[in-house]
Amino acid sequence: SGNFKEGSKKRLQMIDEIRNCMVNDCENFHVKYQPVINIAAGKAVGVEALVRFENDKYGEVLPEDFIPVLEHDFAFEEMGIWLMENAMRDGLKLVAKNPDFLMGLNIAASQFGDSFFVESLKEASDNTGFPMKNICLELSKNCRLLDQELLKEKVAALREMGVKILLDDFGSGFASLEFLKHLPVDLVKFDMQFVENIVESETDRQDLKQLSALAALHGPRVVIKGIETEEMLNIISDSQIDRGQGFFFERPTDIETIVEKYV
Ligand code: C2E
Ligand code: MG
Repeated sequence: SGNFKEGSKKRLQMIDEIRNCMVNDCENFHVKYQPVINIAAGKAVGVEALVRFENDKYGEVLPEDFIPVLEHDFAFEEMGIWLMENAMRDGLKLVAKNPDFLMGLNIAASQFGDSFFVESLKEASDNTGFPMKNICLELSKNCRLLDQELLKEKVAALREMGVKILLDDFGSGFASLEFLKHLPVDLVKFDMQFVENIVESETDRQDLKQLSALAALHGPRVVIKGIETEEMLNIISDSQIDRGQGFFFERPTDIETIVEKYV
């Protein structure tokens, strides 16, 4: 129990340091990018921006180690705006070469529910010159818990501006399918649990097929994340799935690598 106490104390200390960095112009933060591949064409159609914290003491810290704790802190709001601007600035190099390239931004429920969200996004787009139509908002699964009317209105308003809307972690958590009926979106990205075991499990292969057929029936294109091997990709290529992402193609990397290899 002494170890447990010691461990949680260290963790709190790390969270505190990360939070301080957030309010200090996001020092020690950077953005990594992972390509999203059109499977049939074998070509990148966009990237997903993934935030990283890194310093000498803790090395590279993944978002799941601090976002759940800090999501409701005003410091996180600051980080969100910092991230948008940085990703859009980096993204200019991508849309200059491919005018249809999409920049995927992960959005937590606390961010999307904020009344200034649309305003902040527009401001970042104005400040950087990155077009709204090249932004793809990846709404986290908790966004589905926001007020339904507010959600509908915001999504509609953003799509009106050309922004693409993607439902992340589709199939997990609250009312996924029911949801699609009432909320028109551009893309859905399946939760990783639906692909993890497709090589070993025939049931999982069937589930993936059914779920993608159902999603397609409602309109949006389907993105699969977590493609780690060629075997997984081959199975996925057989179903009606449009886009893929995963370590098999590329791990989250720096913008220069994306520019060199994917646009
Ligand atoms: P996500 O949106 O589901 O992002 C995909 C996660 O899967 C990333 O983890 C990525 O590194 C990982 N991944 C990619 N390919 C593979 C693969 O083939 N196998 C496996 N096992 N994993 C793969 P990451 O970067 O640690 O991000 C975790 C989550 O943190 C994201 O999940 C997203 O929900 C959240 N997140 C990341 N950046 C931001 C951000 O800037 N803002 C907000 N609000 N959330 C963020
Ligand atoms: Mg995502």
